[in-house]
Formats: sequence, structure tokens, C-alpha cells
Amino acid sequence: MLAWLLQTEEPAIGLPNPNRSENFQAVTTGDSALLPAQEQAENDANARMMSELSPVRHRVQPEPSATAEFRRETAIKVEAADGKYNYRLENSLDKHILFSTEASEAGLKEARERLAEIIEEKTRAIETTYGITIAREGEDALQQRTTLKDCNMTKGHMIKTRSASLPELVGLEAALSRSQPSEQGGDGKEALKIYFLTENMYTPGTVSAHYTESDMNNHRAIFIDPTMLKHAPVYADDAGNGSDRYYSIQAIFTHEIGHNSEYNMGWNHPEVQIKRAASFGWTSIDPEAPGRPGWLRNGKDGEFYKYDYDDCNSPKAWIRTDAKGERLNFLGQVVSSLDKAQHVTKLDKLSQDKPATDYFTSPREEFAEGLMLFRLGGRDRSRLHRINPALYETIKEHDQEEIDERYSKEPSAQPDVKYMRSVDGTVVPVSQGEQARVKELEQ
Ligand SMILES: [Zn+2]
Repeated sequence: MLAWLLQTEEPAIGLPNPNRSENFQAVTTGDSALLPAQEQAENDANARMMSELSPVRHRVQPEPSATAEFRRETAIKVEAADGKYNYRLENSLDKHILFSTEASEAGLKEARERLAEIIEEKTRAIETTYGITIAREGEDALQQRTTLKDCNMTKGHMIKTRSASLPELVGLEAALSRSQPSEQGGDGKEALKIYFLTENMYTPGTVSAHYTESDMNNHRAIFIDPTMLKHAPVYADDAGNGSDRYYSIQAIFTHEIGHNSEYNMGWNHPEVQIKRAASFGWTSIDPEAPGRPGWLRNGKDGEFYKYDYDDCNSPKAWIRTDAKGERLNFLGQVVSSLDKAQHVTKLDKLSQDKPATDYFTSPREEFAEGLMLFRLGGRDRSRLHRINPALYETIKEHDQEEIDERYSKEPSAQPDVKYMRSVDGTVVPVSQGEQARVKELEQ
């Protein structure tokens, strides 16, 4: 984390998970106001933080040259060969040369223009294929959110959009191809809008990707902070087998589109959320709270755990509680403050249903992670099935309901054709062959 941060040009302070406090100490300068922003990001909607990134993921070697500068700016690799520069994406699937120019400053200038054209073409192609909208450079996105010392949040100046990088668009496209029909509105009319931001949505401190049910024009939207995806692998498969897969551009968009799927399927109604969450090991302690009940994670031996905090200036931590959410110390006595409560770290060992990834701060986030694994398909879907079968079944049912609802309303819908999520994550007509492949994956 530290190495990566020092090599980027922006003051991109990723706020580590409170459980990774060694990173927190390393990358900050005692700015305690970092935490409220994280809190707001989680409370306001559904943010996925740069803080979750592992330390080794995106190491960019400094290369003090014009081609390195081009690569740093555009995330496109420049290779010199035979007096030419060849330009390529850096991922496991798109190996071809995008274009070539003369190997010179003039060539790099021309490359910037060619790249801008390719980006615009790709943007339009994605919009046409999926019916979503991608904001162009210079649009108004949203007012920046600033968390004050007293934990109140204010809205400040308007943040403008930038154009996406080509890797961001390629990763978005990969996510969309395996997230259908969740990029659409439940009514089939209002699809997502994607905003690539020129400044962080939340200040101070956090870098995030963020879903909202309603942007300033009442569109469902995803906001991407300037550096959130900048050094991330494009495809999950670019990152190998570890959890780094789940911080690829493809995976992060799949997670965020998953929040739109939740919204399409009624998660904004507490009763729907409570019922779904109960099926994979969460208990609501405040079902009356509008839109956002408090949550306990069910322990495997009847205990309860809460991701809790004293106020927005203190770090969050998993602690033990009773069935009402009262904090307990290690003797089982009720205590008032967070630091007197029994802290727990091994939620994978303690939980009734094991978390499928390392990001499970609420049922909504764990569900979006589950959708991400299910839709990445193959080994990731298999992993979800193996680690958390309860969540797998809930996701599968939710996903099929959304598919049925959406495709039965298509103008071209044929009543005798049904669709399903294939093992590779795409939506396909139901067939015995695909059903057999799913069955095999589920063994
Ligand atoms: Zn999320």
C-alpha cells in the first residue's frame, strides 16, 4: 500500500480497513477526519473503498520518460520497435496492438488524439449495446461530500466528470456482459449512468466506487473516483487466483451493478432486505429504522457480532453483542463503549455463514459481493457455492427472479423461451447442457 501510494502523483490516500491499522498508520499523517468520510460513504449508499486494496496489487515502477508519462496518464502501454511506438492495453485478453505511431513526441501527441477517438467509439458502443449512459468529460456529476468534525456532512462544489480511460471501459464492458439485466431499471426504462469523476466524491480521505439509486437527475448511477481503478487489473483473471481478483475493474463494476440489481429487486424495502439477509446469516436489530436497519451477524453457536463504532471519529470494529445488539465484554457483561467490548477478528471462523470475500460490512455489501462472485462465473461462482452455500442459494434465486422478470417483459419475448445465468456469467436460453454445467459446478 505504501509503496504504491508513494508512486502515484495524486494524494490518493486509500483508507485502509480499520482491521489493517498498520497500513492506516503508514499512509496517513494523523488525519483523524479520514474516518467520518468512510462512515458517510458507507451510510449514504454503497461505496467500495480503495482501502480494501491489498498492499502488493498495483505497483507501478517509475520510468522517467515520455512514454512512461503517456502510460501513467492513459494506462496504455507504449512499446518501441523498429522506429515506431506500438500501443497496447495491459491485460490477459486484449493482446493486439491498438495502433502505432512514429517513435517521437509528435507520435505521442498523435497517440493521444487516436486514443481519445477510440475511447469515444468504445463509449458509444457500450451505450448502444447495454442501453446505459456514460457521462462525457466536463459534465456535472455531483456535489462533493465533506464530513465535518462533528460528523455532519455538507455538500460542496460541483464535481465535473472526466472521460474514462480505455482500461476502465474495457473492464466496465466485461462487467456488463455478465451482469445483465441488472444494468437496467426494474421497469425496463431507466438504465444506469456511469460517472468517472475528476475529484473524489467524499472528502477528506477516501477513494471509492459508489452506487446510488438517484443522482441529481433521478437516474441510478455509479460514481468512480479518479484513482479508484487507475492501477487496477482490468479483468479478474489478470489478477490470478487470490482475492486481488475482486479488486479488478471488472469485479468492482460487477459489484456496483449488483447494487442496482438489489434496488431492482426491492432491497430498498426493509422487509425485503430483512428477509433476504436472514437467509444468509444476518439479524436485523432495528427493523423500524427507515431504509437502513441495524445488523448483527449471526455466530455459529448462537452468538452475535456487530460492525460497530462509537461515533464517526472512531474506527469501526467487529465486536460481540447480545441478541439486541448490546455490546458485550469477554465475560458476557453489557458494556457501553466500543473499546470495552470484546473485539473479534476471525469472522470466517465465528460466523454461522462464512463470508465469501473480505468485504462484508453489511448484508447489502455481502450480497453485492455474492452477486459479483456468482456473475464472474466459473471458479468464482464455485467458490461462493463452496464457502457460503446459503448466500449462493439466495443469490441464485434473486438472480433468476430478476432475469425472469426482465426478459418476460422484452417486446420480443417469446413465452416459451426462458433464460438462465450460464456458468460463465452470461445470460443464455435455458438448455439441458447449460443446466448440467451448473449442476456440475454445484457439486
Ligand atoms: Zn458496495
